[in-house]
Amino acid sequence: MNKYKDFDNYLKEFPTPDGRFGEYGGSYIAPELQAAFAEADNAYEAICHSAQFINELRRIRKEFQGRPTPVYHCERLSKLFGNCQIYLKREDLNHTGAHKLNHCMGEGLLAKYMGKKKLIAETGAGQHGVALATAAAYFNLECDIYMGEVDIAKQHPNVIRMKMLGANVIPVSAGLKTLKEAVDAAFEAYAKEYKDAIYCIGSALGPHPFPKMVRDFQSVIGIEAREQFLDMTGIMPDAICACVGGGSNSLGMFTPFLADPVEIYGIEPLGRGSAVGDHAATMQYGTKGRIHGFDTYVLQDENGEPSPVYSVASGLDYPGVGPEHAYLRDMGRVHYETASDDEAMEAFFLLSRFEGIIPAIESSHALAYAIKYAKEHKSGSILVCLSGRGDKDIDYVYENYGCGEKYNLDKYLK
Ligand SMILES: *Cc1c(COP(=O)(O)O)cnc(C)c1O
Repeated sequence: MNKYKDFDNYLKEFPTPDGRFGEYGGSYIAPELQAAFAEADNAYEAICHSAQFINELRRIRKEFQGRPTPVYHCERLSKLFGNCQIYLKREDLNHTGAHKLNHCMGEGLLAKYMGKKKLIAETGAGQHGVALATAAAYFNLECDIYMGEVDIAKQHPNVIRMKMLGANVIPVSAGLKTLKEAVDAAFEAYAKEYKDAIYCIGSALGPHPFPKMVRDFQSVIGIEAREQFLDMTGIMPDAICACVGGGSNSLGMFTPFLADPVEIYGIEPLGRGSAVGDHAATMQYGTKGRIHGFDTYVLQDENGEPSPVYSVASGLDYPGVGPEHAYLRDMGRVHYETASDDEAMEAFFLLSRFEGIIPAIESSHALAYAIKYAKEHKSGSILVCLSGRGDKDIDYVYENYGCGEKYNLDKYLK
């Protein structure tokens, strides 16, 4: 049981004031960015623990975001695999349909308190851009979203959403014209504009203070879920799990449970398999390295260049992982497992068909692991963070997987 006791003071001790989780994290940025990041760090520490800030954020979460989101017991789905009970924390019911708004509203409120006029970010698939554009509209802030030209062409509906919400979508034409170049462009803009603007990252990663800030804003997921699960069942779940892209919904779910006797599983995308370029399972196949200004595990070649990554879920294909995950893995507190495209897609169709909930493909990876856990354990319970809804995915899914005929779901109908 000592393993849990070690975490009694964890949130006070990690990250350290210079943003380190053991040997991971930190801040390795160009000199012209240092003043900007230091300002964000100081403001966060000064403002975000004040009663006024917390009360205002609480009201926004309740009245605008629709929090608390429920915990739901999947009775029908659980019955298919034995006696292990599967529960969902329904982040798909958060406004805009995913967990990302949790930290975007926090960052928007911080920007307001700091007297900033603008939010700056990059986006890949567009989910972070849409959540941030939503926060900007709510707080009456300008919003510049940097996006690679290739991604703009691929993610048309999200580009339209951002524009309708009043954001400027700024095309980035350098290099491969995707996420990496968009990050560079957003950092460059931040260095120039930080007197009026604040940068808002899309996950629990990047240079300090962003991994900490995003984790703290997201931990509302686990704080609510822990209380709700206890209230529903009178005991703790045996296990919890969440999908890990950059690592924000998972850390939000995990941190409030770290000191409890609960097994914790982070699920990465195995894609089409273990060959380089066919997956984005950083914890399974990565090595220690540095990416986007912080130390963590990275999928990289011999020269330290990030490897190509792939997943059926565009929100999970990042060649690094938030630094806190790297630390929790080395501590042995969180287990990292994988789910393949195929396992995730079967879980997608199972939840749709047997519970009436169409999950995001990202979230389906966590659900796929919960199903595997249920099959192996036969009893007990597992609580899954369902990070988002699948509406954004259905056209892609239908084109590539139809309505799930190949998974022969009728075999479950007894
Ligand atoms: C972006 C996204 C993810 C992955 O991001 P994390 O930072 O790892 O949580 C997972 N699920 C959904 C629905 C997303 O939009």
